[in-house]
Amino acid sequence: MFSDKDRAHFSKLETPFYYYDLNLLKSTLEACHKAASAYKFHVHYAMKANFNPIVLKEIEKIGFGADCVSGNEVKKAIEIGFAKNKVVFAGVGKSDKEINDALDNDIFCFNVESVQELSVINELAEKKQKIAKVAIRINPNVDAHTHANITTGLDENKFGVNSWDMPACADVLNISANLEFIGVHFHIGSQITNMEVYKNLCIRVNEFATWFEDHGFKVTVLNVGGGLGIDYHKPDQQIPDFETYFKIFADFLEVKPYQEVHFELGRALVGQSASLISRVLYVKNGKKKNFIILDAGMTELMRPALYQAYHQIENISKPLSVDSSQTSNPVKYDVVGPICESTDCFGKEVQLPETFRNDLIAIRSTGAYGEVMASHYNLRETVQVVSSEDI
Ligand SMILES: *Cc1c(COP(=O)(O)O)cnc(C)c1O
Repeated sequence: MFSDKDRAHFSKLETPFYYYDLNLLKSTLEACHKAASAYKFHVHYAMKANFNPIVLKEIEKIGFGADCVSGNEVKKAIEIGFAKNKVVFAGVGKSDKEINDALDNDIFCFNVESVQELSVINELAEKKQKIAKVAIRINPNVDAHTHANITTGLDENKFGVNSWDMPACADVLNISANLEFIGVHFHIGSQITNMEVYKNLCIRVNEFATWFEDHGFKVTVLNVGGGLGIDYHKPDQQIPDFETYFKIFADFLEVKPYQEVHFELGRALVGQSASLISRVLYVKNGKKKNFIILDAGMTELMRPALYQAYHQIENISKPLSVDSSQTSNPVKYDVVGPICESTDCFGKEVQLPETFRNDLIAIRSTGAYGEVMASHYNLRETVQVVSSEDI
């Protein structure tokens, strides 16, 4: 919900822009921190969800670590002030340069995604006379029951080491003097809302941790990744249920006294704290369809085009008391952007009050995988950002 003050301020600004609600971000982070602390769980923030410095600074302040998937993310995390011993580096294709930079920075851990990568990190660490800490990212073949394009933990996915490669991993670890094995890592997908999935994951984590211990490796870190979803249909009911989420792991993971449990949350921490604010350029009434053409498109928010993602769309130029879906004069619109692609569509048959040129439209729940996926396709401008502290 936007206050009258927000709306008045927005109406004076150039569109499109991302609006960040820093108060909501802070409350979400606090809720997560509190729920995780109850079990002494460690949280790393998956930076790829949103690496806007205003977001990163809040997350660093609360004491979370950083989960990075590129060399530049590792650099950025350290630049923002994340402690080096709280930076982990995952990714299925780490280049030699990225590995070398991370070694120079003495990060906490490499989450290694193939047997070959283990050998490469060992060689590069040897040249620098360093010991690289590694966790094996295991593909546990657990179905995340989420959109196929954001499932990562099935045998057919490219991520992680498959179960049949565990013995080969053990062999390489045994002959690699410059690697220190610290544990196991998993990340099975994103926007997971079915808690049964995490139960299944816990069972697999227990099995793989036991396998390594049975083969003479001490497992000190159980990193279960991220993936907790948010409710895109309820952008105003904003803080995810972290208590229930962490409790599943507390109940089903077998944690030994010397083991730490690590999480890598992205979307759940930042998703609800931004909206993309856009202006209606044109309204086209067709025979079969009514179109609203916005000044924001897939170049500002790619999720709908990339994986048919749903975002709630609101006309915020209408008075506050009017619920957009229950006005006396609702119209169904296809809400589209200006980009020359048919997939540049934010929603089909969206029920809105009758809408006019220059009305402001809010596309909600765009704090995760929104601004960071923006592109310059069609030579579009860099998308602007406004925070609640600017108002
Ligand atoms: C993307 C990613 C995450 C975070 O996923 P969310 O669904 O945003 O929580 C965590 N770990 C790894 C390795 C990732 O690639």
